Amino acid sequence: MIDLRSDTVTTPCATMRELMANAPVGDDVFGDDPTVNALQRKAAELTGHEAALFAPSGTQSNLLALMAHCQRGDEYIVGQDAHTYKYEGGGAAVLGSIQPQPIEFEKDGSLSLELVKRKIKPNDHHYARTRLLSIENTVSGKPLPMAYLSDARKFCDEHGLGLHLDGARVFNAAVHHQVAIKDITSKMDSISICLSKGLGAPLGSVLCGSKAFIHEAHKWRKMLGGGMRQAGIVAAAGLYALENNIDRLVEDHKNAEFLATELSNIDGISVTLQATNMVFLQYQATKPVTEFADALYRQGVNICPGEQIRLVLHKNVTREDCVSVVAAIKNAL
Ligand SMILES: *Cc1c(COP(=O)(O)O)cnc(C)c1O
Repeated sequence: MIDLRSDTVTTPCATMRELMANAPVGDDVFGDDPTVNALQRKAAELTGHEAALFAPSGTQSNLLALMAHCQRGDEYIVGQDAHTYKYEGGGAAVLGSIQPQPIEFEKDGSLSLELVKRKIKPNDHHYARTRLLSIENTVSGKPLPMAYLSDARKFCDEHGLGLHLDGARVFNAAVHHQVAIKDITSKMDSISICLSKGLGAPLGSVLCGSKAFIHEAHKWRKMLGGGMRQAGIVAAAGLYALENNIDRLVEDHKNAEFLATELSNIDGISVTLQATNMVFLQYQATKPVTEFADALYRQGVNICPGEQIRLVLHKNVTREDCVSVVAAIKNAL
């Protein structure tokens, strides 16, 4: 099966599994797990931050960040379609008592700093205290422009806001811009990275920031049930991913480009966007899109049906697979 639903479907390779099986472990709630500690050091070093904290999921890692930045009754400004706001069960509001102030993304995936400025609440008893700006990179595969990151940093400094980056796919952004991860992430106060997407680890995210910030997040992680014991078994996979699977993301980007080019001239669908490892198709044929998806499935291609179809490239999809996908799509249409 060629699975294009997400880059979360990647499975650990044989070497990764072997490292997991043989990882030195300890009780991480006591801070004793050498593999977790190595992963956290590696993530902090890569992102240019003092400290890092391993979390079971990106959802929890983002929530830890929001709760460490904001107190009860504070507010964070976030994209209307941002993962932290829209796809994490409203955790910031429910568990953090943090009010979200969502605003529309610009076309390039950024949040207009002019608009953010207008949303910052005055220091007055009517309002929640605006504390944090949360951005995402990549957004639907789109890497944020590098200049925007510097502008956002300057803006947050001027307005006394913290700056969090949901960097679930920040490695794709860095590979796209041909810069070090650090060039993107060191401008942030905190950043959450996912090991479980294109990097190919079975699970896990890492939150990075200052020592004081991570100390605070650590307390919330315990409260949310994210304190894990011999977590080195899974941290070993993340460590391997950070050491070996970043540079190869360029292959996924090239495969996405190849798919987008090959699919651009087919009647019944149109390519609306290709960015880093994602291709977005608009389905226009007359048959219901679920039938199209079924026809693809029967040919060994798994997609999520919708008017807009997102195809995600990752390490378990080869160039030959992409050729098969093009043929299957033509056939299905
Ligand atoms: C996947 C993802 C997350 C984290 O998701 P989990 O499934 O909880 O690990 C956060 N933000 C973005 C943009 C994501 O794509």
